[in-house]
Amino acid sequence: MKQSKSVDYQAIIDEVYAEVKSLDLQGKVADYIPELAKVSSEKYGICLVDNQGNTFTAGDAEEPFSIQSISKVFTLTMVFHAFKSKLWHRVNVEPSGNPFNSIAQLEYENGIPRNPFMNAGALVITDALISKFENAKEKIATFISDIAGCTNIQINGEVLMSEMDHASRNRAVAYFLKAHQNIENENIENLIQTYIYHCSMEMNCVDLARSFSFFADQGYSRYCDRQILTPSQTKRLNALMLTCGFYDESGEFAFRVGLPGKSGVGGGIAAVLPGKFSIAVWSPELNTKGNSLRGIKTLELITDKISFSLF
Ligand code: GLN
Repeated sequence: MKQSKSVDYQAIIDEVYAEVKSLDLQGKVADYIPELAKVSSEKYGICLVDNQGNTFTAGDAEEPFSIQSISKVFTLTMVFHAFKSKLWHRVNVEPSGNPFNSIAQLEYENGIPRNPFMNAGALVITDALISKFENAKEKIATFISDIAGCTNIQINGEVLMSEMDHASRNRAVAYFLKAHQNIENENIENLIQTYIYHCSMEMNCVDLARSFSFFADQGYSRYCDRQILTPSQTKRLNALMLTCGFYDESGEFAFRVGLPGKSGVGGGIAAVLPGKFSIAVWSPELNTKGNSLRGIKTLELITDKISFSLF
């Protein structure tokens, strides 16, 4: 592993990995998608990539896991330039203070989801992708593979089937959005399938940290040598991740960690320190808000050790 000149990231990651492993953090692996409950709660990996392209890892950093809601950042990135300000008439940019799968707020806010990371908001974004691309699924898979460094990112078919069989709530949200004319396409089942398809992508911590590197580098990805977003668009997505990336725990995450990031119920968290690095952590045991317990603790300790504060 190469070392960054100023900060010894490998030493910090190793230290935090050992410290977090020794803690007795009691959470619960997600089981509302039965296939996810089969993953060992012992799994734990970290990968940090700095803006010079150095990669630092610990634990199960190369083992693929279900990215779930982290995929919502990728789909939002894909629609971001295409829709410009028009998109924000269909999805708001405010923290919701509600769980990721909440439907209640939609009723009194006339079918406009609070933000693109709640399931409701992400379904609107997926609908926009279906309108834009003839084969949205293929486009999403290619985009994620490219920004992860031209790897071949795959979906996990079992997780996909398992979630399709337990998606009544997401179907209800989609039909509710449709009733409010906030879904353009007629085929709701195709919308649900496309949404669950991107949630079922599998990536490891290295892929994930690399795929988030453009958020740390003003929109430029060294892994596919492309400007993915403009610096101004990057600023907006980082702001959205900071305020809404952890659902009704976004305030607590900002308080403890203070980095823009996104979690998924597969136990992954990806986050960035703009100008410096991107990082991915995976540990399947979740807290009651659906965020990885060890993942949050890891990021809290790392930001403490590098004495980082945005504020
Ligand atoms: N696919 C999951 C769902 O729709 C994503 C949830 C998450 O990761 N928070 O419930």
